[in-house]
Amino acid sequence: MINERIAEVREQIRLHCERVGRDPSEVTLIAVSKTKPLSMVLEAAEGGQIDFGENKVQEMCEKHSLASDMPLRWHLIGHLQSNKAKKAVSVSTMIHSVDSIALAKDIDRHAAQLGKVQDILLEINVAGEESKFGITLASAEDIVREIAKLTHVRLRGFMTVAPFVENAEDNRVHFRALKNFLVDINAKNIDNINVDVLSMGMSGDYGVAVEEGATHVRVGTYIFGHRDYTI
Ligand SMILES: *Cc1c(COP(=O)(O)O)cnc(C)c1O
Repeated sequence: MINERIAEVREQIRLHCERVGRDPSEVTLIAVSKTKPLSMVLEAAEGGQIDFGENKVQEMCEKHSLASDMPLRWHLIGHLQSNKAKKAVSVSTMIHSVDSIALAKDIDRHAAQLGKVQDILLEINVAGEESKFGITLASAEDIVREIAKLTHVRLRGFMTVAPFVENAEDNRVHFRALKNFLVDINAKNIDNINVDVLSMGMSGDYGVAVEEGATHVRVGTYIFGHRDYTI
């Protein structure tokens, strides 16, 4: 079941790429396994899925250590508190949810101690929703310029959690805005900054996100089923 769902998502990614003349190999599917048991991760991993997303550091670390015999990549996609930055750095392939220069500096410090250069994304609240984490588009350039000075984080690009909408088309404008921002940032030729990652699109809207240039889509519910937060 899980692997059939993953195959379906991959096929959809291929179709949406075809529609806009993109190569599907440019798009990484992150299977968002938050709240789901390790058995589901292993089932997907045995089917060939490599990239997994978690929103809590503790849960990510547990799954990481229990599946350490498999060559999986762990993406931290949820809000990160500074006091968990060290653990996050120890297991994350990429931290998608950097939303302040203070947090970027903490990650930089821990990465230096661990002898690692940590790939990060800046989380941008493109639609300006009050309930969401992420910085505004207006303040993003200043933070990019600060991050550029850090030696043990590598800014790879941007992440956004788009609004929850009935019609995925409604989010196209937000995905496009983030892509335009990425192009603008590269055009400024900031030392140490050359971004190519756009983490955008979830179960309900990843097709539109792919059409607008997503390089990483984060799909949970469609692959693993609804999450039960009451247990
Ligand atoms: C939970 C989550 C997802 C996956 O959302 P689905 O709608 O279940 O596909 C993607 N991104 C972030 C940041 C999440 O927290």
